[in-house]
Amino acid sequence: MERIVWDTPLGGFPGVGPARQRALAKLGLERAGDLLTFYPRRYEDRTRVYSIAQAPVGEPVCVEAMIAQPPRLSRIRRGLDLVKTRAVDDAGALDVTFFNQPYLQNALRQGESYVFYGKVELVGGRRSMTNPVFEPAARQRFTGRIMPRYPLTQGLSNHLLITLAQAAVEHCADDLAETLPQAVLDAQGLPGIQEACRQVHFPDDWASLEAARARLAFEELFYLTMGLSLLRKRREVGRGIPLNAGDPKAFQALLPFPLTGAQRRVVDECARDLCAGPPMNRLVQGDVGSGKTAIAAFCLWRAAKSGAQGAMMAPTELLAQQHYQTLKTLLEPAHVTVALLTAAQTATEKKAVKRALAAGEIQVVVGTHALLSQGVDFQDLALAVVDEQHRFGVNQRSALAAKGAHPHLLVLSATPIPRTLALILYGDLDVSVLDELPPGRQPVETYLVSERYHQRLYKFVDKLVAQGRQAYLVCPAVEEAEAQEGDPTLKSVTQYAQYLAQSVFPHLRVAFVHGKMKSREKEAVMAAFAAGEVQVLVSTTVIEVGVDVPNAALMVVENADRFGLSQLHQLRGRVGRGKHQSYCVLVSNARNPETRARLKALCATTDGFRIAEEDLKARGPGDFFGQRQHGLPQLHLADLSADMRLLTAAQRAAQDLLAHDPDLQKPEHQMMWPRIRQLFQENPDIFN
Ligand code: ADP
Ligand code: MG
Repeated sequence: MERIVWDTPLGGFPGVGPARQRALAKLGLERAGDLLTFYPRRYEDRTRVYSIAQAPVGEPVCVEAMIAQPPRLSRIRRGLDLVKTRAVDDAGALDVTFFNQPYLQNALRQGESYVFYGKVELVGGRRSMTNPVFEPAARQRFTGRIMPRYPLTQGLSNHLLITLAQAAVEHCADDLAETLPQAVLDAQGLPGIQEACRQVHFPDDWASLEAARARLAFEELFYLTMGLSLLRKRREVGRGIPLNAGDPKAFQALLPFPLTGAQRRVVDECARDLCAGPPMNRLVQGDVGSGKTAIAAFCLWRAAKSGAQGAMMAPTELLAQQHYQTLKTLLEPAHVTVALLTAAQTATEKKAVKRALAAGEIQVVVGTHALLSQGVDFQDLALAVVDEQHRFGVNQRSALAAKGAHPHLLVLSATPIPRTLALILYGDLDVSVLDELPPGRQPVETYLVSERYHQRLYKFVDKLVAQGRQAYLVCPAVEEAEAQEGDPTLKSVTQYAQYLAQSVFPHLRVAFVHGKMKSREKEAVMAAFAAGEVQVLVSTTVIEVGVDVPNAALMVVENADRFGLSQLHQLRGRVGRGKHQSYCVLVSNARNPETRARLKALCATTDGFRIAEEDLKARGPGDFFGQRQHGLPQLHLADLSADMRLLTAAQRAAQDLLAHDPDLQKPEHQMMWPRIRQLFQENPDIFN
């Protein structure tokens, strides 16, 4: 094969045919260079090489031994070949067996010493190893050292990835360009990029691995905080349009209820931001049902009163419609014109709204991401509101703001983020917390039951529906096939809905909704449920986001162990929004004590922040980052719960650098731009 360079397609590597090439592509690996940033998930300690007698039983270890007899191939039956041999050292003997690798008969030579890596097992008092990795003791490449374990997909072995990564690191690591300034590396005591790349794949020892990992994680955090700082500063350059008209007390008069203390406090914080100076840049975090919409209403009202325009973006059609209704009812008596703009409207409707927006005839518009499309122009957009922000990216929130000249920005979120993470997640925002629910809410009663409880549960659904209430049943999968593939006990939306409609609730109206349906169909079902025409709604987590159906009093979550706590908490927030006592039933057959403890924790508290902390403790930040509930770029190496010290250091280093070169203009800093854009790759243009 020709010399391997960065661009060499992996299809040309030994052992990589078309099928494996496709499997590699699934992992995002197409060229040699891609392997460098394909980081191991964990490592195997193959450093210690044992003698046969001393090798611990039952865990993967390296054992050095000499082949004592020629390997014998035997065919047990069609499709099952065995190669068997016996290896020895001074004090012991080891049976070695390989399944379905007949060519190994000639790969192992009698009288030669090899290092075997595998699990030693005791079979009838004899030590044995099945399907070990092995290599001649004289030429160790895969044993006697720490080896990576890569994330895999069907058709790929870790061993293949190791050989590919070895080639890539050997030939391409030196082409990696350093983007961190030497001064920063020195100050932090971190290795350069080439060294870090080598060590993160094939570490010399654990300390070098830790240094390499720290360097790469630091880099991610450094560019993340730098990117966020640049975005924030860009917004602060201009001055917000002062929105001074409209006293909070006059706003209260528009509402059918008194604001809670927390709402009053946050309204005051917003009022101060909106007055003058840099534009508001505020996140309002509050548990489901804490009344965030009222805060948005206040700011939008104020924009209108001050002679400007405001826009509110929601993640779904239904939610946009609900907000539209709420705001219309609230603000029209105060002579504010409110309009709706979503993809589901007819072209004529959309055209009329767009025209009126551009002409300044509409003061408040509520919509979905349709608001971001080209041709939506404002006369004077002074305020952008983004609801349920975890459904949108940093990019989309910037895109909405870009429709005006430095508009004020209000971001609403029902995903409570543990304090430790908020620092980075919302590094570009000021944070207000709504930590008080409106009075008179009855906490949702939450129970954990096993599947044996189903019959009683169905009776309970019947009873509530007879009282006029409605119920949600949430399943983890959409279709049977998808459910079967992972785990045959998983409930799927389509099948379960059919079963319930035919066999359990033939006398009720049962409907289903899931993310793979067309959005029109989805919206129609949700609207029918909201209107009370459907009594039992079977769904995936698509209903997780802020829909308000006060008459729904029961949330059943099937296979509840499949969901993160924060997600379950969001689902539970769909009920208990009206005056009726509401219930959440978590159905799970999980026996694992940790899983049960996690689910029990949810039964014991309704405090979203405490639940988020529990989730962080139990599952690590993966739940927040895995589901990308933050809209931030994906991080590959940094672990935000474990790397707080590193995060603080990265933030400080980024701030220092920006203090000297606020817009990253200096020639010696130009190499940072591609790296920042790469991190925000979903929308690198936001930095233009
Ligand atoms: P969320 O924070 O989840 O977006 P909403 O703004 O949808 O919450 O409010 C949930 C429900 O509580 C709505 O029906 C709303 O009218 C009601 N609500 C909001 N604030 C108050 C309050 N101060 N007193 C009574 N009800 C309120
Ligand atoms: Mg809401």
